[in-house]
Amino acid sequence: MAVIESSLNHAMQEVRAISCGLELPQLGDLTLAEIVARLSGRRTCAQCKAVYHLMSRPSKEADVCDTCRGPLMQREDDRPEAVRVRMEAYMTSTRPLVDYYARSRRLLAVAADSTPEAILERTLGALNARLNRRSVEESGTDKSPPGYS
Ligand SMILES: [Zn+2]
Repeated sequence: MAVIESSLNHAMQEVRAISCGLELPQLGDLTLAEIVARLSGRRTCAQCKAVYHLMSRPSKEADVCDTCRGPLMQREDDRPEAVRVRMEAYMTSTRPLVDYYARSRRLLAVAADSTPEAILERTLGALNARLNRRSVEESGTDKSPPGYS
């Protein structure tokens, strides 16, 4: 069970990371200081790799994993200085790609200001809405005159 929960946590973190990268308005609204504060609050269990956050998902006992009682650690790349370096790398390498997909209307923007579960639900909802819109557009093209396509 702990393994399943741990990998679910991990998957949720991946979704959060992806949706953070895609959320343009929110990224525009967050200052670097806020991003640093968010990311540097993350703690990972050294034993079972469960993920916590000092503000949004604290462990019941400080620095101790709820699941396996292992010590909670801060990853090197979540330290404030490392987060600043990561954000600079993001702005120079990833952001242009996000802008490219936004311009070509292939970007799925999902607000990432919530729990992993809520973000996953939002992501699936946005994907469904996009798929429905596409199938409506496709059925629209079926109405073109015979022999036209
Ligand atoms: Zn643990």
